[in-house]
Amino acid sequence: MLHIELQDKLFPTLKKYFGYDSFRDQQQSIVESVLSKNDNLVIMPTGGGKSICFQLPALLFEGLTLVISPLIALMKDQVDGLNANGISANFFNSSQESLEQTKIFEKVINKQIKLLYVAPESLSLLQNILTENYISCIAIDEAHCISSWGHDFRPSYQQLGFLKKVLPNTPIIALTATADKATRTDILEQLNISNATQFLSSFDRKNIELEVRPANDRVLQIIKFIRKKPHEAGIIYCLSRKSTEQLATKLQQNGISAVAYHAGLNFEERTKAQENFIYDKIQVVCATIAFGMGIDKSNVRWVIHYNMPKNIEGYYQEIGRCGRDGLPANALLFHSYADVIQLRKFMNGASNEEVQLAKLERMKQFSEATTCRRKILLSYFGELLSENCENCDVCKNPPQFFNGTIIAQKALSVISRLKEIEAVGTVIDVLRGAHNATILEKGYNQLKSHGVGSDISWRDWQQYIIQLINQGYCEIAFHKNNALQLTDFSKKVLFEKEVVELTKPIEVQEQKNVQTAPKVAKAKKDSLFERLRKLRQEIALSENIPAYLVFSDATLK
Ligand code: ADP
Ligand code: MG
Repeated sequence: MLHIELQDKLFPTLKKYFGYDSFRDQQQSIVESVLSKNDNLVIMPTGGGKSICFQLPALLFEGLTLVISPLIALMKDQVDGLNANGISANFFNSSQESLEQTKIFEKVINKQIKLLYVAPESLSLLQNILTENYISCIAIDEAHCISSWGHDFRPSYQQLGFLKKVLPNTPIIALTATADKATRTDILEQLNISNATQFLSSFDRKNIELEVRPANDRVLQIIKFIRKKPHEAGIIYCLSRKSTEQLATKLQQNGISAVAYHAGLNFEERTKAQENFIYDKIQVVCATIAFGMGIDKSNVRWVIHYNMPKNIEGYYQEIGRCGRDGLPANALLFHSYADVIQLRKFMNGASNEEVQLAKLERMKQFSEATTCRRKILLSYFGELLSENCENCDVCKNPPQFFNGTIIAQKALSVISRLKEIEAVGTVIDVLRGAHNATILEKGYNQLKSHGVGSDISWRDWQQYIIQLINQGYCEIAFHKNNALQLTDFSKKVLFEKEVVELTKPIEVQEQKNVQTAPKVAKAKKDSLFERLRKLRQEIALSENIPAYLVFSDATLK
């Protein structure tokens, strides 16, 4: 329980410094938890109001609240905003003159600053004030940057674990808009705050209509789309700097007021583009993902993805920039297989390549889905939507469903009976009653459910399992070799008679010979193994699926 004196100050402080009469959703509980000196992890959508969660406690703590934030540009905006509200805040970075830095230290020591923003790279310069004499709280904004499972990993964030060691009694509040389950766990572990109280807000942004279209003639489609909304501001995300410029030019040639925005432009150009957009002097920004972090424009009416995003976190964060005022907004994604190939190439050789590929795969499945898209988005973040949303293209134009409960039960019960979590391919092998090396080695042929799904082809199983993942009944464990595992919702199917709706698998144009996993049980290993890996790559590419869905390394052996 929070001390009554502090409790009494919450609302007056909110009003006095921020001008608000009430807290949003979880803000009050979070503020109270911080003031009670708990460690906290806050997952709240962009625009949800994360800043208050540490800025308000900062005003009530005696000492300094240190705010770790990734971008210097963002820090300056926040500090200016706070100063304008009469709050004593500063930022600290290595480019400041040493005189200025000394002044900041003096102010900290005299307890004249409430909030100090700093990038993780500059933390080492703060050594002389990093003691509990001066510091009352640590806020880590954009905390997903710490995790290589996250979508925006920054190595400099990885050193932040030392904070809890140096300041063991100082509460830490880590905040982010986008973190799937694996990322959340990783954030807690790395910051050494595994007992943190977690606040998970709903990720549902009901007012945003979701739509995916094939990318043919996308420029033409975009021009038509914008012409129907002549006064509505929007953002078009592109993969490359060059395409932002080309697209902006094409739009201008068609009488649409558009500019390009990317990190290659100089500071003035970027600031000008931002301001013109914020003050409604231009309608459209064609941007790389560099655009949007920290942009506070509540009436962005639509977001278009000219190219496919790398993963669902990025997509969700970017579409979250429209409709912040709660009024109807549109998110339109163009889906092209060429983009997927391009993105896979970018990921080639990355230290967490497997994770990145698996996340891209989920993004691709989202684009191709026949289930309510909002269900997929929310289940990705661990939420189950019980009804279809009726505000996405799939809901508005639904495919034919059939009762797939038995299929779902078979798949989930097989997963639940395996002695450890296995790749999708192995699960299908068990379902289909295969007798390959892995199955025999692990004794899966002894399971009662071995072969319960032999009436369904290998390929159809793949598609059904993707649908089950999309609906949140099972999931890919990105941090465990992309194996397939149950979720909290699986038991609804296994034990609570949940009815599962599936759609008939799509016919794939070129039917390649992957009906069953190749039988390589007794073959000579090495060279054959390599040949099979190559074959797997080829199948994966030609079938437009990731390698781990074809068959696993274990199966090969
Ligand atoms: P986030 O960091 O979660 O993206 P911000 O903290 O920047 O979100 O807040 C987004 C917007 O919501 C800001 O314009 C902020 O002033 C506004 N806001 C935050 N809390 C409240 C509140 N309790 N009442 C009204 N507006 C709020
Ligand atoms: Mg923020």
